[in-house]
Amino acid sequence: MREIGHFVDGKRVSGASGRFADVFNPNTGEVQAKVALAKHSEVEHAIAVAERAQPAWAATNPQRRARVMFKFLDLVQKEFDELARLLSSEHGKTFPDAKGDIQRGIEVVEFACGIPNLLKGEFSEGAGPGIDLFSIRQPLGVVAGITPFNFPAMIPMWKFAPALACGNAYILKPSERDPSVPMRLAELLVEAGLPAGVLNVVNGDKEAVDTLLTDPRIKAIGFVGSTPIAEYIYTTGCANGKRVQCFGGAKNHMIVMPDADMDQAVDALIGAGYGSAGERCMAVSVAVPVGVKTADKLLEKLVPRVENLRIGPSTDAQADYGPMVTRALLDKVKDYVDSGIKEGAKLLVDGRGFKLQGYENGNFMGGCLFDHVTPDMRIYKEEIFGPVLSVVRAKDYEEAVRLPSEHEYGNGVAIFTRDGDTARDFTSRVQVGMVGVNFAIPVPLAYYTFGGWKRSGFGDLNQHGPDAIRFYTKTKTVTARWPSGTKEGAEFVIPTMK
Ligand code: NAD
Repeated sequence: MREIGHFVDGKRVSGASGRFADVFNPNTGEVQAKVALAKHSEVEHAIAVAERAQPAWAATNPQRRARVMFKFLDLVQKEFDELARLLSSEHGKTFPDAKGDIQRGIEVVEFACGIPNLLKGEFSEGAGPGIDLFSIRQPLGVVAGITPFNFPAMIPMWKFAPALACGNAYILKPSERDPSVPMRLAELLVEAGLPAGVLNVVNGDKEAVDTLLTDPRIKAIGFVGSTPIAEYIYTTGCANGKRVQCFGGAKNHMIVMPDADMDQAVDALIGAGYGSAGERCMAVSVAVPVGVKTADKLLEKLVPRVENLRIGPSTDAQADYGPMVTRALLDKVKDYVDSGIKEGAKLLVDGRGFKLQGYENGNFMGGCLFDHVTPDMRIYKEEIFGPVLSVVRAKDYEEAVRLPSEHEYGNGVAIFTRDGDTARDFTSRVQVGMVGVNFAIPVPLAYYTFGGWKRSGFGDLNQHGPDAIRFYTKTKTVTARWPSGTKEGAEFVIPTMK
């Protein structure tokens, strides 16, 4: 059986804890590899290695750090298809979708290539007599990232690319469910010229994470995953004096106004609701048609589309989506569907019994569509993270604004309308972090920031874009007087620029 260890000091090393987790093939349900779960002392060793490597990396000028990123991009481009195949073999997303996962990561590496420009400070000449005032951004030291299973290329790149470009050393703890791509990315970075020890990957579970959370040498932690773990990491990391940003779960609504282009809205719902088997933090899981007529028109077109979704193995490039990552998640999603029926929602399309010929033990599930879902139901309140779309009928626009605004999650939201006034009002008032107008998955591009509100995000700064540079650096402000020999005698009052 293939064993996946860790990546420390520029090379792959075997795990020493004797503990492993299974890495499954989601198409067949078989175990395809074992990933090592690091013990406390292994994580401490990786931190020591990173701490040793960091000062020289920080002293490498930003242009040279950028050159490593450029070279890394080149290597990722050369291996794009192999990386995508590896990713989909562990995650279960289709090959084209796996390529999208890598592409959205690459875009943040491209952003990080601009680091000489992004790190520029401010300078005020002549702030006082012979006095200049300026600010500089310096790296934090050793920082860490803990990432989820659903974007095993994109999210690690969102984290380590800006952190490394800023001059930090990095410890990545990827998801134990699909660790192979993050390990390969670390190797490619070293091939691109990143000095050994600057990026280390430790695979593991709570023991590894808790070591990162409590070790004083880790200065900042970035997390992406489910909300209960996000909250735990945020509170524990902050209590241990670290800078922390955590991004959690979601329940993304898509509002369909009576004047919306119904074909466009249905296409958007099918892609955003069922793509990647719904395993996306920006998946649309709630459709909100406004008015009875809109709901009827929408469902008339939507039901046959859900019934005819093409579900296939991750190797089928024509499939709309592939298997779910694990049997455990598949069972959990089916339980949610059972609970929706018990709570009185109307299941219009039932994908629970779906079986794919030749892949009977794979983690496949057909698309499910609920109508008449209400805000008190579990299937509305909680994140399902599967191919299940709930229709909540709103009687008017005000109710449609209220639903996502009052939900405990606030990651993404979309409105479909032809009316600019409505779109503008919605964009301004809705209490959600990322908004789409006639755009179902509004994941901002790399040079803007990504982050949800309410219980979808903990911490002050978002991911990528300018916030990433703020998160991974500290500002130093310098007041300098030249010529240094100016004599004014001792001053006992607070200095002012007279
Ligand atoms: P998860 O919370 O189970 O795991 C995320 C990471 O935390 C993994 O590395 C895992 O090993 C670690 N972890 C799990 N349990 C832990 C514990 N008890 N103590 C310490 N660490 C622990 O999430 P997942 O299932 O891998 O990913 C899916 C979730 O991620 C969904 O809720 C999804 O919405 C969310 N997500 C959010 C965003 C965002 O930007 N808001 C993006 C992608 C995914």
